Amino acid sequence: MATRALDELVEALRRLPGVGPKSAARMAYHLLQHDRDGAQRLSQALQAAIGAVRHCRRCNTFTEDEVCDTCRDPQRDASLLCVVETPADQAAIERTGSYRGLYFVLQGKLSPLDGVGPRDIGLSKLYQRVTDGQVREVILATNFTAEGEATAHVLGEALKARHLMVTRLARGVPAGSELEYVDLGTIAHALVDRR
Ligand code: ZN
Repeated sequence: MATRALDELVEALRRLPGVGPKSAARMAYHLLQHDRDGAQRLSQALQAAIGAVRHCRRCNTFTEDEVCDTCRDPQRDASLLCVVETPADQAAIERTGSYRGLYFVLQGKLSPLDGVGPRDIGLSKLYQRVTDGQVREVILATNFTAEGEATAHVLGEALKARHLMVTRLARGVPAGSELEYVDLGTIAHALVDRR
């Protein structure tokens, strides 16, 4: 029952994180058998997003503009720059309502075992960003996983060498955890108690 188009769809779905051959096949069958409208919508939304969404020139997060709304907000404290791994982590910190500085989104983390080095995430863009003359403190808010800690360590050393004040979210965020899944009160405290 396999066809070339079906095989290609299954292969394409397998590119999603955490999706193996079986679930990719299930998704493909579901879309083609039960939800052709949904499949159409998915394909159009993908096309539209690929065409419209890019990285903010200043903070590297996703935006449809050259510079994102947060970076353009004059109410933000430009002396504080919080470094996170993903837009989801940025959203988690925003939800606490207790941070008024700016962000930089790495869109990844260092992971030598998976071959992800400094060139593969936005490190050179970050090093440029922090030397705008306004940033005084860089808050490292990478996740408290082994890779997030390693990334924070490498960044911390590099930023200190550039004579910037570097702080890390306080412990209290459980070890091994990703910010996205930590409750708001805990993140807010970790921000206040950073060192
Ligand atoms: Zn931005």
